[in-house]
Amino acid sequence: MTDKTLTRRGFIGATAVAIPVTAILASRTAAAQAQKALPHLDPADPVAKALNYHLDVTKSDMSKVSGFKAGSDCANCIQIQAASGAFRPCGAFPGKLVAEKGWCSAWAKKPG
Ligand code: SF4
Repeated sequence: MTDKTLTRRGFIGATAVAIPVTAILASRTAAAQAQKALPHLDPADPVAKALNYHLDVTKSDMSKVSGFKAGSDCANCIQIQAASGAFRPCGAFPGKLVAEKGWCSAWAKKPG
């Protein structure tokens, strides 16, 4: 085995690693841009009203909201689909972003 062989193998190995990493980063960037392009869920939306969606549990009087549990919000709901962000996709409202401080009657605690 020559130094030239090692160098070639090193280059091929580095390329084999770099291509998937680049693809993953491009995919994450595309997903983040797609997420930003989605509209925010309007609490006046008929489906949002039907599920009693509130935009911010810290600013609403949630004591009179049926089914609301203190400490629950979209950020700790099993339906939220992104790890961070003030507005994120939600499985209950496809094509819309919900507020991390929001809440609706479909709330279920995220495991963990
Ligand atoms: S299902 Fe969960 S994440 Fe979606 S709006 Fe309701 S509480 Fe928020």
